[in-house]
Amino acid sequence: MVAVEIVVALIGGGVSIVTPLLGYYIYKWKKKLDPEPSEEKYCQILETEVSRVGGFPLINTNRCQETKSQCPTCNKYFCPFHKTRNNNGDLNGGHICPDNNP
Ligand SMILES: [Zn+2]
Ligand SMILES: [Zn+2]
Repeated sequence: MVAVEIVVALIGGGVSIVTPLLGYYIYKWKKKLDPEPSEEKYCQILETEVSRVGGFPLINTNRCQETKSQCPTCNKYFCPFHKTRNNNGDLNGGHICPDNNP
């Protein structure tokens, strides 16, 4: 019955390799079913302190449709134009970031 024991050992070894892979695929599959709402991200420049004239925000929104990325400091999402930190209030892009360590 040596052959059976070898087969059992092979199956046993195979299962221990397959199980983490299976877990990984289930994880990927669940991710697919429940995707992160990345499409709904928008430039959050209006949620920062922007210069306003007569109540109207003075911002350049020309690039706000481009790919948004998250500011590591204030965790808001910005387009490439508003991504940089700009606490000087000039109009060359960036956002006023509530960061106490300049
Ligand atoms: Zn923007
Ligand atoms: Zn920021």
